[in-house]
Amino acid sequence: MSNLSDDAILRVENLAVHFPVGGGFLGKPRRYLHAVNGVDLELRRGECLGLVGESGCGKSTLALSILGLQQPTHGKVIVDGHRVGDGLDRMARARITQMVFQDPYSSLNPRQTVRKTLEMPLRVHGMGSASEIDDRISEMLKRVGLRPEAAERYPHEFSGGQRQRIGIARALILEPKVVILDEPVSALDVSIRAQIINLLLELKETLGLSYIMISHDLGVVEHMSDRVAVMYLGRIVETGSWESIFNNPAHPYTRALIAAIPDPFKQGSGTRITGEIPNPLDPPTGCGFHPRCPDMRDLCCIPPTPELDEVEPGHFVRCRRVGELFTPKQVPENIHGTLPDGSHPDNFNSYLPIE
Ligand code: ATP
Repeated sequence: MSNLSDDAILRVENLAVHFPVGGGFLGKPRRYLHAVNGVDLELRRGECLGLVGESGCGKSTLALSILGLQQPTHGKVIVDGHRVGDGLDRMARARITQMVFQDPYSSLNPRQTVRKTLEMPLRVHGMGSASEIDDRISEMLKRVGLRPEAAERYPHEFSGGQRQRIGIARALILEPKVVILDEPVSALDVSIRAQIINLLLELKETLGLSYIMISHDLGVVEHMSDRVAVMYLGRIVETGSWESIFNNPAHPYTRALIAAIPDPFKQGSGTRITGEIPNPLDPPTGCGFHPRCPDMRDLCCIPPTPELDEVEPGHFVRCRRVGELFTPKQVPENIHGTLPDGSHPDNFNSYLPIE
């Protein structure tokens, strides 16, 4: 059943999600929106994979497919040796993959105490007697930095950061192996973000979790991720280690995303892209990025879509011009998130993203 490599907890293979939109009436052909279009991904045990890209590129649809909440049109998701939606039913899936939501205000039920929120999944899954459940709830609240007495309170009695801690406790109470973090700090006050990020990093280490983190904030991605995947128009256009993506980006889109990060250390180099992500109902031919690409040449619009090429070990890029544009570098540049001496800050408190 499993064909995961030894260190992989999750693999996405050639995954596509096509939504039917309009057509099909009075003989008109049905139209399909290709939200996710042939994605291959691997999440290794204990790592954080950052998933970045503009709004509408398909990140949430991909996350929902991994959670088994969105049926793929084709392709498969294998998690901990089981195929999602096939060998893995809803209950089993919930014990392996969980999600931390972006908005800690709307993601908690205002009518339920924290205890009710945390005990329900344990009861549904028959995990322990009443006293064992109480112990687990107290233990989990302590882990996320709340007092056990917090269990008797309602969400409105907490601050935004505390509510996100409850959201994290709810995601972890069933002891999942993979957690999808959907913009976990973007709805929080900047002063709270560092605490939540450090908490997530600590929980990853102590509980042996693996994360997929969706974020628009490349500063957060840079700090938390071991590897990064950049999505554009339903496809992965670049993937590689944290170092290769941030120190040596190869795809013009990744370069533009990094150039757009506000950075006190950066020299202000790099080309910025303009315009909107194209309509996925009518995608450009050839490379999907070519209409906005500063390095576009005639060959870029010619079908088919370029494949992902390995430009250095573990660093893959979907660009026909990558051979001309990319030179592997040995020495990291002084870029966003690195300190002036080139080192990476160990504690996020030393670096707060600029709003
Ligand atoms: P954001 O960062 O804003 O959440 P995203 O990268 O997560 O965006 P998705 O929400 O996955 O993007 O959407 C990808 C594309 O699929 C978008 O064009 C969106 O309009 C479309 N889409 C998403 N869900 C549906 C649906 N149920 N029916 C039709 N189209 C959909």
